[in-house]
Formats: sequence, C-alpha cells, structure tokens
Amino acid sequence: MVGYNASRGQYSGEVFLREVAKLRVEAGAKHLGIFDVDIYAKGLKFIFGIALIGGDFALISLKRLSFPEELLFERALKEAIHELGHTLGMTHCPRKDCVMSFSNSLQDVDAKNADFCEEHSAQLRLILGEG
Ligand SMILES: [Zn+2]
Ligand SMILES: [Zn+2]
Repeated sequence: MVGYNASRGQYSGEVFLREVAKLRVEAGAKHLGIFDVDIYAKGLKFIFGIALIGGDFALISLKRLSFPEELLFERALKEAIHELGHTLGMTHCPRKDCVMSFSNSLQDVDAKNADFCEEHSAQLRLILGEG
C-alpha cells in the first residue's frame, strides 16, 4: 500500500498528506484526512497527525489515540483542531494546555484542552477576520 515502510511497519505521514491533497474538493478549503494506521514523519518515532503550516491539507491517525476507547473522540478532536490550526498558519505553543502545544505522547494529548490559549485565540480571530 502507498506510503508503507516495511522496515518500520508504519506509514509515512508525508506520503499520506500528498494523497489527501489529491482529494482536493475546493481551492482554499481546508481538508482533513483521518487514518487508522500507525504513521511517522522524518525524525519522529510516530506522529498523531501532520499538516503544512498555511497549507490546505492536514491529517490525523486514530491508531495511537484509541486506548482506552472512551478517550478516542476527545483526543481525535484535539489533534484535528491542532492540525487544522497549522493549516491556518498557527505554530506550536509553549503552553501545555493549549490545543496548539505539540504532543509527543498520550499524556501530552490528555494534558491539553480542545481550545486555543488566549494568544492563539487572538491569532485565530485575526486569521478569520474577526479581530
Ligand atoms: Zn503540531
Ligand atoms: Zn497557544
């Protein structure tokens, strides 16, 4: 299958992002792909999601978010908002409770809110033209 790295037993997030880009439905719209296999990116053992800053495409993987299953929806929501935040031009936040903080573990995901910190909220309002 496309993007599979047999030596790692994982799929390339970068390759998947290009696959998502092929599914573009509208210029300027943000697209989020949702996968259920383990993904990685260069230099990282695994990733929960990936996006290009300011790009139109993002994706998340549910694979590592689903144990225990009760937490899956909340975690997926946080990671989806995080990656879509990147597509809107936002970068990582030093605040661990901000949805734009980088998550390297499930503890990191669980420690953050599905919301933006004050600074990122202000940035979002500017981006959306509500500032
Ligand atoms: Zn990120
Ligand atoms: Zn923030």
